[in-house]
Amino acid sequence: MPRSYIHEARKRVGPKRARIRPIIERLAVEHQDAAIALEFTRPLELLVSVMLSAQTTDVNVNRVTEKLFAKYRRPEDYLAVPQEELERDIYATGFYRQKARSLRGTMQILIEEFDGEVPRTLPELLRLPGVARKTANVVAAELGHPQGIVVDTHVRRLSQRLGLTKQEDPVKIERDLMKLVPREDWGRFPHLLIWHGRRVCDARRPRCEDCVVNDLCPSSRV
Ligand code: SF4
Repeated sequence: MPRSYIHEARKRVGPKRARIRPIIERLAVEHQDAAIALEFTRPLELLVSVMLSAQTTDVNVNRVTEKLFAKYRRPEDYLAVPQEELERDIYATGFYRQKARSLRGTMQILIEEFDGEVPRTLPELLRLPGVARKTANVVAAELGHPQGIVVDTHVRRLSQRLGLTKQEDPVKIERDLMKLVPREDWGRFPHLLIWHGRRVCDARRPRCEDCVVNDLCPSSRV
């Protein structure tokens, strides 16, 4: 897209600080069901699900964890079986060797340092093997303590299209969003963008004509 066109479009929709609240409010009405698609009932299950969700779909993870969580209920259970057995039990999520290693390493630390509980702060979560910033952010947010903003492929694409960031790197995008999005919305904001990305603002064919924020979006094609 020519630079002059982008500049014109940005001028047309106005500054991002003035647009962020209406964007959040409208998306919240449009996607009232926007929530994490992983199925879990306890913090440990949440952590395991998010760790397994790397490089695969949430549907796939839910299929695997339905049986997994009936068999592995406490951190100790993941260490009580041979690594190969755990690998077989999570095989369908892909990268099963690496994921099994990370799970067992994580369980060891949970037992030794956190009384078997899932910690709530980002620095603590980031000490667990296989837990990178995105995983830590998802877990903290779902446990009711968002300390950052989850940036996945949808959040990245929509933030750029909506003119909320010019960055490419997820860490820098998150930094931009944390300055812009009101703190009380850090938890739900990524869900709203993820669901809007899945349903309307498709990567290849965004349906701008059906988009509730098209008048606030510098990338709108209508
Ligand atoms: S107007 Fe188009 S590009 Fe902008 S958020 Fe909506 S669907 Fe995406």
